[in-house]
Amino acid sequence: MNFENLPRELDFALQFARQAADVAFQVERDMVHSTLTKSDRSPVTTADFAIQALAGRLLHEAFPGDVLVAEESAAMLKDGKAPASLEEVNKVLTRIWPDATPEKIFHWVDYGTGVPGDRFWTLDPIDGTKGFIRGDQYATALALVIQGRAEFGILTCPKLKLEAGKATAVKKEGGSLLVAGRGRGAWLTCLTNGREFSRLAVSAAAEPREATLVRSYEDSHTNTGQLNRLIRVLGIESEPVRMDSQAKYALVAAGVADLLLRFRSANREYDAAKIWDHAAGALIVEEAGGCVTDLHGKPLDFSAGRTLARNEGLLASNRHLHGAVLAGLRSIFGA
Ligand code: AMP
Ligand code: MG
Repeated sequence: MNFENLPRELDFALQFARQAADVAFQVERDMVHSTLTKSDRSPVTTADFAIQALAGRLLHEAFPGDVLVAEESAAMLKDGKAPASLEEVNKVLTRIWPDATPEKIFHWVDYGTGVPGDRFWTLDPIDGTKGFIRGDQYATALALVIQGRAEFGILTCPKLKLEAGKATAVKKEGGSLLVAGRGRGAWLTCLTNGREFSRLAVSAAAEPREATLVRSYEDSHTNTGQLNRLIRVLGIESEPVRMDSQAKYALVAAGVADLLLRFRSANREYDAAKIWDHAAGALIVEEAGGCVTDLHGKPLDFSAGRTLARNEGLLASNRHLHGAVLAGLRSIFGA
């Protein structure tokens, strides 16, 4: 990819990524962790709202006609039941824009409640909020979807250092910024002081037994019974790596892990996967040479609205292992 002469969309996404990471660091540093609980019982923090507001305002300035489909809405900030949260979001944003007010913040956050159509951006301001709260991995993910396919995607993994085929958890410096454009490859740079981009490539592992598998940290986000059956069927010897957020996709794209699996959660309380949880990460893995489908081998369909309603579960792989895993899944599901 020619980083001197980027398409405007990628240039915008990269600038947003670094600003979003600054906001997340700031929220962490000040420990402004007012956490609210959404109707699906998942948590939402000051950083989720502040980063979505940031994206709403910046996108509106850069691409005034574009639609943003993002995870949060301002409803919980507006209803007056969480004044501390609104005050914290306001404090974070007035450092960037001294003219920020609660009314403007509602507007910027709700800029992300757009309806997906032929061309739209999709954002997860803090992916892996539970990881963020625990001090573990999280990501910010932004993708541009055109005609149901991700064309550009960026992922920040502020707590994940990727270097020489190795991943390490970091506290402040050395996190990762990953970027991909369809047909342009997937690239990695350091989030905090990166100038140089290096090309990402998936692993060459072809033997299921030796594969490194990465899965959600939270048991409730997957189906551990089905996952363990698959691990037995494939004879995978090492313990799965448990990690929050699309940082899992980063591991596969960088060749550190070979497989990423997501089953529909056993309690079925969570209906379908959300588009912002996958659009950027999946494009980055594909552009690094990997393969991403659902558990039945179907390509991900980003034209079904806010969820991947036409897909079930997720398999991202280094491509070489994809067929063997799909065969293993068929034997489990009895298809
Ligand atoms: P992970 O980082 O793999 O744990 O996935 C995080 C994403 O899982 C969040 O962004 C949510 O969209 C999604 N999620 C939240 N609750 C559930 C649930 N009960 N079952 C499945 N996915 C969930
Ligand atoms: Mg998420």
